[in-house]
This record gives sequence, C-alpha cells and structure tokens, in this order.
Amino acid sequence: MDFHHLLKTQAYINGEFISAKNDRTFPVYNPTTQELICRVACCGAEDTDFAIQAAKTAQAKWKTYTAKERSKILQKWYALIMQNQEALAYLLSLEQGKPLAESRGEIAYGAAFIEWFAEEGKRAYGEIIPQDRADRRLLVIKQPVGVVAAITPWNFPNAMITRKAAPALASGCSIIVKPAPETPLSALALAELAHQAGIPAGVFNVLPTAQAEEVGEVLTASQDVRKLTFTGSTKVGKILMAKCADTVKKLSLELGGNAPSLIFNDADLDNAVDAVIASKFRNSGQTCICTNRIYVQSGIYRAFADKLKEKVRSFIVGNFDQENVQIGPLITENAVQKMERHIADALAKGAKLTLGGKRHALGGTFFEPTILEDVSQEMLVCHEETFAPLAPLIPFDTEEQAITMANDSPFGLAAYVYTQDISRIWRVSEALETGLVGINEGVISNEVAPFGGVKQSGLGREGSRHGLEEFLEIKYLCMKV
Ligand code: ADP
Repeated sequence: MDFHHLLKTQAYINGEFISAKNDRTFPVYNPTTQELICRVACCGAEDTDFAIQAAKTAQAKWKTYTAKERSKILQKWYALIMQNQEALAYLLSLEQGKPLAESRGEIAYGAAFIEWFAEEGKRAYGEIIPQDRADRRLLVIKQPVGVVAAITPWNFPNAMITRKAAPALASGCSIIVKPAPETPLSALALAELAHQAGIPAGVFNVLPTAQAEEVGEVLTASQDVRKLTFTGSTKVGKILMAKCADTVKKLSLELGGNAPSLIFNDADLDNAVDAVIASKFRNSGQTCICTNRIYVQSGIYRAFADKLKEKVRSFIVGNFDQENVQIGPLITENAVQKMERHIADALAKGAKLTLGGKRHALGGTFFEPTILEDVSQEMLVCHEETFAPLAPLIPFDTEEQAITMANDSPFGLAAYVYTQDISRIWRVSEALETGLVGINEGVISNEVAPFGGVKQSGLGREGSRHGLEEFLEIKYLCMKV
C-alpha cells in the first residue's frame, strides 16, 4: 500500500510542515513488529507558543467567514479523506496495530464528523427573547470560543481528532492538536489533507511531541487558548482540569470508562453474545466504551458463557494486514502487564480461567483473547478499566443487584443492557449512571449522537448538535429602542 504521500514527520504550524526547535525528534514504532517506522518532530514550549500565535491570528479571520464558506472547505477535507481512505487506514494500522478493516472503519467514522459538522455549523442559531420592557429588545447570538487546544489519545488516532476539530472549525474556532506520542502520523496525515483542502494557514495545527507535559503546560497556561478539549485517562484529565483553572478555560473531557454489560435471563442469547463480542473485543478491547464488566443473570449464565467461549475461541489474532484478522497487538508492554495483573488478581481471588490467559505465541504485545468466569465485584477487573481483550463474567440474581454493581464505579461513560422486557429497558436505562446506554446493541457511537460521560468519565458531549455548542459562547444583547 502506498501511503508515502501522507507520511509527514514534521510539525504542521501556520500552514507549513516545519521541524521542531533545535531539530528535536522522537521515534514512532510499529506495535505489531516493534520496529521503528520513522522519527517525528518533537515540539516543545517555543513551538507551542508559535502555534498559539498563528492560531490566534488565523482565528480572527476564520471567524469572519460565513458558515457556508467554512462548510465548503470542510466538505473538501472530508472528500479528500475519503479519497485517501485506504492509505490513511494503512498508516493508522501501521502505528496503532488495529486490523485494517477496523482502520478503514475508523477513517470513515472520523470523516463523518467533518461531513456532519460542515452542515451543522450552518445551524448555530441565536434567539430573540420577548422583551421584559416595552422600550427594549433582547437577543442572543452564538460566537466561536476562539483558539482551541486538543489533546488526543492513541486508540483512535484519526477519529478523536476529527471529532474535536470538525465542530471547532465549523463554528469558527482555530485548533492546535497535540496527538498521542504513539500515533502522531495519522494526525499529520490529516494535516496534509487539511492543507490540500484549503483550510487557511493557522486554523488547523498539529504539534507532535514526546514532551506532553511541556506542551500541555504552555497550552493550558495561555490566555489566548480559550478552550481545552481532551480525550484520555481520568488521571491526566484531572491534571489538565486543574491547570486550566488559572485561565478559566472552557473544558470538554472524555475520560476513562468502566462499561458494564447487563445480560438478563430474557435476552436474545445470540444477539447478546454477538453484541458483547463487538463491544468487548473491538480494537483489542482498547476503547473507552468497550465492555469491561459482563454481568450475567443466573438463568442464562451457562448458555451465555458457553456460546461466548465458542465464538471467542475461533478469533484470528495477528498482523493488521492479515486476511480476516480480528485481534491485533496491544499498544505497549505496559498494557500487556495491566491485563496480566487483572488476570492474576482475579485468579487469586477465586475466578476461573476458561479461555486464553497468557501472552500470544506471536510474541511482542499480542495477548490471547481471554475469558474469566465466576468473577466477583471485589476483584480489580471490576474497578479498573482493563483496556485489553479480557472478558470477565460476573453472575447475578436480581435486577436490583445488577444495577447496584453496575453503578459501583466512579466512572460513568457507557453501559449496555440486554433484555426483551420493555419495562425493564426503561427502568434499567434510567437507573444506570452513565452518559450512553446501548440497548440490545454493542456498537453505539456515531457522528449524529451525543457522546460523553458522567461522574469521573468527563464533561461535555462530542458529536451531534450538542457537540457544536461546546465550541460556541452565548452572547446576550440588550438593545434600547
Ligand atoms: P493513555 O493512558 O490512553 O495513553 P493518557 O491520558 O496518558 O492516556 O494520554 C492521553 C493524551 O494526553 C496523550 O496525548 C498524552 O500525550 C497526553 N498527556 C499525558 N500527560 C499529559 C500532561 N501532563 N499534559 C498534557 N498532555 C498529557
């Protein structure tokens, strides 16, 4: 696959690909083979300052474009991404490891945010409020927040950027993206296509770096950056939230999850197994809405466990470009060790290993898809996000018990319910303390629906019309007549 026209190794600031100050670089590895792909510019404080100034200057002009003018440029970006879907998918798999079919899906999913917000940007409506006094008129207008900083993770190296950049740009903001150090190449490829689409210099910037703290410090301290949008761990989200306090920035935070799936006795067994597999094993279990805990009611427990095992046993683990591969490597050795820790803890506390349980024969960071049965609530796997292909089954008897265990978490991003009983669907969906609920469905995220968590899973929503509001300020005008 020829992707070299999209392989960029310099930072993209003010419409140009440039080296970092002092020509600093850092290595990017292929997690499938552990081989070096290339070295990429390693931005620091000075590069970040330069990007902020460029973004500020550019935003002053970009906000004066009509929504339709901005839309036309965003649509061009969308079209170029889809024309380059295959090359972008290959590059994404190369630096991230996920199967090519999943990367193709991510490119289309990521591009869909650009297409959708290109349209939705035209609908940033204000309001006219009936006056409180005869001699005045009251109006509300919506204006772009200003310069936005985006800090993004490695698990969706394309879509986590477009989901932020599309509404930001559509609403008239400029943006500075700091991608994860593991996956800067997808971000830089997006910059190349943004350039070709005619997005004006300084409106979209990418600062690759291995010095996240240094760049993050400058972005969060700057008066000129008016909003931070972050996807990543709760730990880092809290640090960034505290750092943004000083300049009272607007914040959107998509943080960790610990998604429960609740399978009731009356669930459609085949659908529940397929949906749980799709939710659990996508991206090798490395998404923040992946099912982490699988609660199964006693009457369906045996049948569910057996069917799940039968299907997961036949999974093809391998390199991203291998035919029909379903499970790739984990992103790093640390990720493997976390999975091992969760398995060891569960086994020590009485869980039963029924499938997998060890590193895969392929070596590196490949791990066998694993199923644990008879897991209980006090085990580590119920309290930490595993972010790996580990499916723990926890039996329960009553609906009340299931809800209590599902909500027994400081996180609240996604949850999934499997039942045919319409009253139970409502009761359980309303009782779950999460921002998203899948009902007899395991893959629920798309550009038209609001994505975001409650509790320590974050603030704000991405996608949908609500996602645009995150990049708009409300201004009230009171006019004497
Ligand atoms: P993960 O565990 O998925 O890697 P992190 O929260 O560590 O999640 O990382 C998400 C993003 O946050 C990455 O782009 C990473 O470089 C960045 N990051 C991590 N620590 C900091 C920090 N102190 N300041 C700014 N960005 C950070």
